[in-house]
Amino acid sequence: MNILVTGGGGYIGSHAVRQLREAGHAVVVLDNLVTGRREAIPNDVPFYKIDLAETEAIAQLLANRRIEGVMHFAALIQVGESVQKPLLYYKNNTAGAISLLTAMRQTGVKKFVFSSTAATYGEPEETPIYETTAQKPINPYGWSKWCVEQILRNEAYADRDFAFTIFRYFNVAGATADGSIGESHDPETHLIPNILFAAMGKKEKISVFGTDYPTPDGTCIRDYVHVDDLVAAHLFAMTAMKSGETRYYNLGSGSGYSVKEMLDAAKTVTKREIPTEYVARREGDPAILLANSDKAKKELGWKPQYTDMAAIIETAWRWHATHPAGYEKTKRRQ
Ligand code: UDP
Repeated sequence: MNILVTGGGGYIGSHAVRQLREAGHAVVVLDNLVTGRREAIPNDVPFYKIDLAETEAIAQLLANRRIEGVMHFAALIQVGESVQKPLLYYKNNTAGAISLLTAMRQTGVKKFVFSSTAATYGEPEETPIYETTAQKPINPYGWSKWCVEQILRNEAYADRDFAFTIFRYFNVAGATADGSIGESHDPETHLIPNILFAAMGKKEKISVFGTDYPTPDGTCIRDYVHVDDLVAAHLFAMTAMKSGETRYYNLGSGSGYSVKEMLDAAKTVTKREIPTEYVARREGDPAILLANSDKAKKELGWKPQYTDMAAIIETAWRWHATHPAGYEKTKRRQ
């Protein structure tokens, strides 16, 4: 298929580009490079430095490249920043998606895979979280994604041929097995990269946010899923998508790990000491976020390959250890 990947210079988008090409699809990347990195996009992939707000430019791209389906990863993802700058999040994530969908409508592109988030469940009403669990976001980031989900429902009602799959991501982690692309956020707020930064001395210590949660060891429990497993589900969804179908899936591993357990696993993988400090809770962190992903397994035939936390951390370690400054000093990829 001819597939447009928005956010192809980002963490998950760059892994999607790689897998799509390996599967024989023709990939085009759109990225405004605000958070995405040019170095993450192979040189021989057609690349358009376009902002999601540029509806006409996107429509032209869709038509010229005869795009058949869109995987929409481009978004801002920092919860804390979204609380400080809600309008920025609604503009990029919500209005950006409206602009993209408008361009798709203009050009008759009717297949859409959307990166949503467990943050749309907010403080969940049940554990594990099912696709049917009530969605009540507790921050603008979650709401900005929730709005797009709602818009997609309305759009699919208005245009009966329009098809979408919404994936609600849990904690995406790791890097592609050869360590050549990986997570490179600035600032980096996620747990695993920060643990590894402390292990390699790039950061003085890792701060564990909160030790008084109602969990066995007092630290938060999360569901970590490997980025290549996560992306594989997108390929299944895009290639199997039929006209007018609307689907929703949680993507997680179904296993929960506490922050302390992650630290122990990282010590085993890196064989290094990891200087640690225990500090107060971070605002807005639910105690436990655990996915039930049976639906994706049953309906898409999705089967995560990485079931062991050490194996996931090992891939991240390979990336960070070989790219201590992220993409900063990386040559453009061939
Ligand atoms: N966390 C932590 N120290 C850090 C970063 C994260 O203790 O430097 C904790 C955080 O409170 C949460 C878990 O690790 O319980 C995962 O956080 P992350 O930001 O990776 O993902 P989130 O679950 O917020 O999407």
